[in-house]
Amino acid sequence: MRRPRDEESFKEFNYVSKIFKDEKLISQIPGNLPKVALIFPNDYEVASSSLAWSWIEQLLANRGIGVERFFYEPWFKRFYSVEEQRPIDEFSTWLFTFQFENDLRNIADLLIKRGIPLNASDRENYHPLIIIGGPVNLFNVEILSDIADLLFVGDLECAIDQVSQALMNDNKFESIKEMLKIPQVYSKVHGKENFKNCQGTLDIVPFSHFTTPHSVFKNKLLVEIGRGCIRRCAFCVTGYTKKPVKFANAESVIEIFRKYKTEEFGLISATITDYPYLNTLLDHMERENIKFSVSSMRVDDVNERLLKMLKVTDHKSFTVAPEGISQRIREIMLKDITQEGIFNGLTLGRNVGFEHVKLYYIIGFSEETSEDYREFFWFIDEVNKMGYRKITLSINPLVPKPKTPFEYRKMIDRKDYEERIKYIKKNLQDKAKIYAESYKESFMQYQISRLKGIETIEFIKENFMKK
Ligand code: SF4
Repeated sequence: MRRPRDEESFKEFNYVSKIFKDEKLISQIPGNLPKVALIFPNDYEVASSSLAWSWIEQLLANRGIGVERFFYEPWFKRFYSVEEQRPIDEFSTWLFTFQFENDLRNIADLLIKRGIPLNASDRENYHPLIIIGGPVNLFNVEILSDIADLLFVGDLECAIDQVSQALMNDNKFESIKEMLKIPQVYSKVHGKENFKNCQGTLDIVPFSHFTTPHSVFKNKLLVEIGRGCIRRCAFCVTGYTKKPVKFANAESVIEIFRKYKTEEFGLISATITDYPYLNTLLDHMERENIKFSVSSMRVDDVNERLLKMLKVTDHKSFTVAPEGISQRIREIMLKDITQEGIFNGLTLGRNVGFEHVKLYYIIGFSEETSEDYREFFWFIDEVNKMGYRKITLSINPLVPKPKTPFEYRKMIDRKDYEERIKYIKKNLQDKAKIYAESYKESFMQYQISRLKGIETIEFIKENFMKK
């Protein structure tokens, strides 16, 4: 392994070493010769909050592949692995998980910094094999079709044995040949146009092999109890692309609780309250005094027991997503939640002692009228009257996504968005702390979600390389 030789590389090396030292290993990963760099193209906090980053490593390592995790910081130049602090150049396969559209900027930056041509057809035999998977592929597999050598569509569990076998190969072209036989693999550059998505079964319940204080789920062992969503909110790709919905068997989840009983848990699912065996899990966790937090839940389905149990872990604030500023807008966005349901949940939150509530909203619908805003301002007044000491509003513009009923909608323009934010602030700034998502970042997400093939490389040159 090459050690860093200059000051900048030392700084990067030490940063990654420290991150690794802070991780607590829950289960052992077999050590094999370095082969696959598993790259989460975002910072460590985001990467370690995603169970996929750990689970894919476990799936590959348990089949004999030498795999190490990488994450991204804009100031990184060499890119060292978390586990062994090996430079990424020592890995012959780079496997990216593409979770958010705007991570395109980070994928491009990493490739450029390591001297890898962006266009797959410009790469040589000595360049690493670039494979890209992740949820963005589910709604637009063409975004990276000119950049990736191979795109994997769907859950890796479906073809993990074939993928591992293919990656065992020392010859890049033999690996590609084997990978092209896999039904979930799409490759524009190697001429395989037919592919089919596939979703894993959750028969084996995924859980993380490490915990860390730097994750959003601080020091929690992540366990995936559901994949996909039974709802169909028109702004959200999850309800339309991850089908059919899968739920983990409660006994298998409880087995994990028993095995790692000294840990605290982070339960991962699109909405935890839709998990059909939630009461069975709560019974066990209550009995055994297990602490846990959840990735997301529906406010109209919460009950006092669940909220009380969450509160004792580390939930200082109660997070709720009414999404629409009025009931009429919620109906347009197919958010099947009523005002009464939201009020009931918020009242329960106060009853169990939450003092801070965070409310998430999406604005920017062409149908919005001053009547809808009046209802919104009245609603926040009512929440104030419930006795919450702090109300935080997170406002995002609607980003219409492919493969959803909003696919053909246009995104609101900047001026209009900023005016609506100003109007909200004027009416609510005494009652709530207001965070408005940046228009620039949201519009970039909108643009990237629609890119195809060579357009993506042009977009990168235009937007990320000109400065
Ligand atoms: S409930 Fe949440 S995850 Fe499910 S479709 Fe609606 S926004 Fe998406």
